[in-house]
Amino acid sequence: MVNILTPSEKRIFKTGNSLTKGSRSHKRFGRRRSQLVKKIEEKGIKDQNVLQAVNSVPRHIFVDTAFENRAYEDSALPIGNDQTISQPYTVAAQTELLEVKKGDKILEIGTGSGYQAAILLHMGAEVYSVERHEKLYLNAKEILQELGYRPHLKLGDGSLGWGAYAPYDGIVVTAGAPVVPEDLKKQLEIGGKLVVPVGDQKSQVMIRITRTGEDEYKEERLSHFKFVPLIGEKGWD
Ligand code: SAM
Repeated sequence: MVNILTPSEKRIFKTGNSLTKGSRSHKRFGRRRSQLVKKIEEKGIKDQNVLQAVNSVPRHIFVDTAFENRAYEDSALPIGNDQTISQPYTVAAQTELLEVKKGDKILEIGTGSGYQAAILLHMGAEVYSVERHEKLYLNAKEILQELGYRPHLKLGDGSLGWGAYAPYDGIVVTAGAPVVPEDLKKQLEIGGKLVVPVGDQKSQVMIRITRTGEDEYKEERLSHFKFVPLIGEKGWD
């Protein structure tokens, strides 16, 4: 097999079998995790299931060991390939907007580190997630498996969605799109919600679209965020 991981990315696998022990332990950083939960609650997150998931999922395991001391700051961090693990408040806000219920089928576009997927899985969702960078896809797959989660992951262009498993109760796009990707709207269940940041490459407005009928959608425009770009056929070039 071709080794496509950089040395720093391989470090995580050296400790791979001991994710539940020693320096990468789940239990480590428990106090910092609760402080982070308090912070995002103060910023306006109300959904107790989201807050509980943030309090339980070990974010430090989704970043390189060089960044684990910063894993419980409310900030985005680099994960390689010029990409980031989203800010915890952003993850919580997008998840809250999805109104996830246990058993919901959720599609995520932009697996990245796998952290957002873990939050959704922790909340009892059935998660489908697409990533375009092979290294990130493989890294997230390994970590999520090590943590005992069973997501459906795909390497490819998520701007087209994942038609084979549609319809979804919720779709969350974790990269900024130039326009709302039409394919994603069509992959929603009636009543399902699409949460997608839309704008230019400097700033995006969070849009929530609810499919209210076969050809009917309700659109809500929420606050501004800053995401890495959604690159693909229905995204940026
Ligand atoms: N949800 C991620 C997490 O929890 O770490 C955040 C990831 S980052 C903000 C956005 C991700 O979207 C990046 O990993 C990027 O490679 C990915 N991405 C961008 N365009 C994409 C596309 N068309 N299809 C799939 N993934 C894409």
